[in-house]
Amino acid sequence: MTVKEETQTGEDVVSVIRYLIGDATGPESPGPKVIVHICNDIGRWGKGFVMALSRRWPEPEQAYRDWYAGGETNDFALGMARFVQVEADLWVANTIGQHGIRRRKEAPPVRYDAIRKGLLKVAEFAAAHNAAVHMPRIACGLAGGTWERVEAIVHETLIRQGVPVTVYDLPAPHVFGPDKAGARAGGELVFTFLGTGAARPSLRRNVSALAVQTGQSRGWVLFDCGEGTQHQLLRCRLAAENLDRVFITHLHGDHCFGLPGLLSARGLKGTTRPLQVFGPRGIRAFLLTALDLTDTPLDYSIDIREVEDEGLILETEGFTVQAVRLAHRTTCYAYVLQEADRPGAFDIEKARHSGIPEGPLYAKLKAGEEIRLPDGRLFVGSDFVLPTTLGRRIVIGGDNGDAELLLPYIEDTDLLVHEATYTDEFAVGKALKWGHSTAKAVAQTAEKAGVKNLVLTHISQRYGASGDGCDPTVDAICGEATQWFSGAVAVANDLDTFRLGHSGGHLRKE
Ligand SMILES: [Zn+2]
Repeated sequence: MTVKEETQTGEDVVSVIRYLIGDATGPESPGPKVIVHICNDIGRWGKGFVMALSRRWPEPEQAYRDWYAGGETNDFALGMARFVQVEADLWVANTIGQHGIRRRKEAPPVRYDAIRKGLLKVAEFAAAHNAAVHMPRIACGLAGGTWERVEAIVHETLIRQGVPVTVYDLPAPHVFGPDKAGARAGGELVFTFLGTGAARPSLRRNVSALAVQTGQSRGWVLFDCGEGTQHQLLRCRLAAENLDRVFITHLHGDHCFGLPGLLSARGLKGTTRPLQVFGPRGIRAFLLTALDLTDTPLDYSIDIREVEDEGLILETEGFTVQAVRLAHRTTCYAYVLQEADRPGAFDIEKARHSGIPEGPLYAKLKAGEEIRLPDGRLFVGSDFVLPTTLGRRIVIGGDNGDAELLLPYIEDTDLLVHEATYTDEFAVGKALKWGHSTAKAVAQTAEKAGVKNLVLTHISQRYGASGDGCDPTVDAICGEATQWFSGAVAVANDLDTFRLGHSGGHLRKE
């Protein structure tokens, strides 16, 4: 939502809520700050955001309890707010905006009128202290409110009074989205190549973009976003509003010109699902400038992380992501997705065969305990665990003139996606000059490292489609790679989908 106001000089001032991924108990802005949160009117402090507040400072909880205890004689009531100083220039606003803590006759505890009244007091306080307001999505959790209504009240009471407001969403706990399914390590991984051409689009190959998701999750992750990626999305089942994370390998246009448009379109669907973007230094200025100059405020939280150097950049349930520096004309990274090892399940068959009766004894074995049967036999839980499945490793490269840089990361890796812009035959100095790889160089490196599956992409547009009669065709790239690599190799075409099973191994093309 955008609010435009006339200033004294007649210029348009666009005031919008700033959405960030992060924790509202660690507000990010210079100068005085107020953290606003909603309390109930029955003296309960115990669930949700208040727990995070209490872990940080004891004062807001104590002040609320004292305020409630003296309720007969003070102003404790719906619509009231009290400001508790917790640090120099930082206050917590205990704002009473929910009636009780349970739904009654289907009505949630949220009280919008009380929130409006309370936020007007916050606006007064913020103006008097020249403070910015920070908050989680208040009243939307246990209070049962909807953000659409709360957001309108925030605009009316704070933004329009000129108070800067930042709203925080916690980051998605899983690489593949907030869906529970994204967390279930071990699901099939699905790779959809949205663009596989180098430098400029052709009718056959759009510029770089690769979508990755688990077989079960709606959420997905995007690696690079060349111009026209939105169009490619229309041709497959991926919805922009379900995009959770973007990893940009480098800031050459054929890898990122599509991103501002995609971010904008994602917002048009009315999603509030937060988005995280990783990329080399400059990605923040690129995106914020493009969004700002085109008057494109986003209604969802965006967290732009500039990757300053190689190393671990993301740790989530089930997966970690590491950045590795490549050799190109500008800072460029490969991203290494490492799945956590999956401990073996309880071996129920073995327990049955051992004659252990089903029931509580199984639970004890699962918990790793020792059990003794009436016949005297002793069993130990650790003997009934199926073998651990090693986590899969997937390496997705950006433009790179030296595939060997990846050697330390790709040993026995399940899947390496790497550019092969040219064949050796046609490269003659070009590949090196432009910071790109040949099929031969990548294949040799993959062979050395024992890569299980190799998918080549970012193909020069000079290579025609297989069988279309031109010379050379993409078959030359594939042919050259198979000469030097004994594992499974494929050259990706636009909209190709590959699946990697739960224990890695064979990559299946759909
Ligand atoms: Zn490049």
